[in-house]
Amino acid sequence: MRQGTKVTRIGFPEPSQGSPFLPGPVFAGPFHAAGDVSSSPFTYGRFHNPTWTMYEQALGELEGGTAVVFSSGMAAIAAVLGVVLRPSDIVVLPTDCYFTTRRLATAYFSEMGVRVKMAATAGNAQRELLEGAKLLWLESPSNPGLDVCDISELVRLAHEAGALVSVDNTTATFLGQAPIAMGADFSVSSDTKAITGHSDLILGHVAMRDEDWAERIRTWRTQIGAIPGPMEVWLAHRSLVTMDLRLRKQCANALAIAQYLATRKDVTGLRYPGLPNDPSNPIAVRQMQLFGPLVSFVLPDRGCAERFLKSCRLVYEATSFGSIHTTAERRARWGGDPVPEGFIRLSVGCEDLQDLISDISQALDLASAK
Ligand code: PLP
Repeated sequence: MRQGTKVTRIGFPEPSQGSPFLPGPVFAGPFHAAGDVSSSPFTYGRFHNPTWTMYEQALGELEGGTAVVFSSGMAAIAAVLGVVLRPSDIVVLPTDCYFTTRRLATAYFSEMGVRVKMAATAGNAQRELLEGAKLLWLESPSNPGLDVCDISELVRLAHEAGALVSVDNTTATFLGQAPIAMGADFSVSSDTKAITGHSDLILGHVAMRDEDWAERIRTWRTQIGAIPGPMEVWLAHRSLVTMDLRLRKQCANALAIAQYLATRKDVTGLRYPGLPNDPSNPIAVRQMQLFGPLVSFVLPDRGCAERFLKSCRLVYEATSFGSIHTTAERRARWGGDPVPEGFIRLSVGCEDLQDLISDISQALDLASAK
């Protein structure tokens, strides 16, 4: 079965007369569990929940491994770092990955004695830092710069050097690229983004091939308590069903908008891995099945970028990405990312393409007119 079919029914129970396709969320703190609890499939809501189990089965099939769901993408990232890293270990991060991942590593984990090394995603520069490393952390395409690294090649080099590899696959998703099939030990994702795609929840997951690591990651979740609510997980599972439909339209719209932006004189630094002349394209075409909903570009200065965002009528100004609604933001407003003041991260949604291009075009005209 192909991924596009899988998402429509994966994790659903076997058909049973008179039952819904996807049973509703199970809300429970304690479950009935008298006497010997080994016979009870569920005992306490921090340990397990049948709604999680169904969603995890779906994610596991789609990722090609075992999946563990978390309350957010950051909770999933913290689980891998927390389970793998010990004082004096070396972790190799991208300089240009999601800034909270970098902050967590450089603030919390460094203080605990972990040595953090960083190099850019572009040019596979992290390969130079693998000696003695315990964990190589990749994010490709990187957020927000959209550089791409050669995942299979870096996995090969990292494994040769004795390091584990974790890929933050949030920008691409498992429909866009398959880290575990490329040899990564962990595929981590913020399910807040394109997997769920409706801008109405926060969620994350870790997928891995190895059952021992899965057990350690599950134990971390139980002990730290970074558990998702059953309602969020049920909404996520419901949203998964339309993921292929949404993401394909988002990616097609994103490519067309990138092509339009390439014609504008007021736009520089345009990046979309699916554009044939993008620096990321040669590796992207080899390892990605979809190029994702994110496009980035640079307007002349902060004022111009702010006028652009204010002048858009269809594009919501908001952080996050991957939603069915097109959103954009001036990324430098947060600090922490190596981007210019006029840098815009645009997350393309499922609206009508001509409406989107008209809106972006009139907003750019207004922003440049001043
Ligand atoms: N990874 C990437 C690439 C992200 O962009 C984000 C959030 O923007 C996260 C992880 C964290 O996800 P969450 O906000 O669900 O904790």
